[in-house]
Amino acid sequence: MPADWVDRQLRDRGIRDTRVLDAMRAVPRESFVPEEERKHAWDDAALPLGYGQTISQPYVVALICQALALQGDELVLDVGTGSGYQAAVLDELAAHVISVERIPELVEVARLNLAAAGHRSVEVLLGDGSLGVPARAPFGAIAVAAAAAELPQPLVDQLAPGGRLVLPLGGYLVLLTEAAGRRRVEPLAPVRFVPLVTGLLP
Ligand code: SAH
Repeated sequence: MPADWVDRQLRDRGIRDTRVLDAMRAVPRESFVPEEERKHAWDDAALPLGYGQTISQPYVVALICQALALQGDELVLDVGTGSGYQAAVLDELAAHVISVERIPELVEVARLNLAAAGHRSVEVLLGDGSLGVPARAPFGAIAVAAAAAELPQPLVDQLAPGGRLVLPLGGYLVLLTEAAGRRRVEPLAPVRFVPLVTGLLP
């Protein structure tokens, strides 16, 4: 891994939360990248994960984590586990992470990756994450790694008071917060994500 990757890919682009920078340094991205992509593990790019899915670009993972402003005591819901990389970084920053993935093979891959990287406490569940996990709500923070056409209402409903939801919506990564009963949606950056697929499992 290039020694200055955190400075070049993250700090120079505005990631300033030191907890996030430390978490990004702590999680070995190569543990989450398929064997044949390992030499690209520290590239400034999303990488193919198989099953038509991608592991997010480190900058985008850091941007999501910074926007969630985690303090360390939150229960976090991660939608779209994929490789488990985002879930591992969230696990560095919060009390507990529940992650939902709709492709059964990726659930297995993510569990193995997370165990290999020392993040066994992350719970990876098979399901449609656009429905959230009502039985475990409310969540102090929710991170979504697949692009929705419209705001998934169950996720908004499962947010704790003062909670933060970050998701790709209409080509932008957006932050949704609610304070004193007023909802605020703030665009963070233009992004490209694989689509959030709702409905039946494959
Ligand atoms: N956070 C991942 C990124 C994975 S790409 C990482 O760091 O590697 C997005 C993932 O969302 C894909 O694995 C895709 O299968 C999953 N996905 C898409 N729609 C979903 C849904 N409705 N519920 C759960 N997972 C979903």
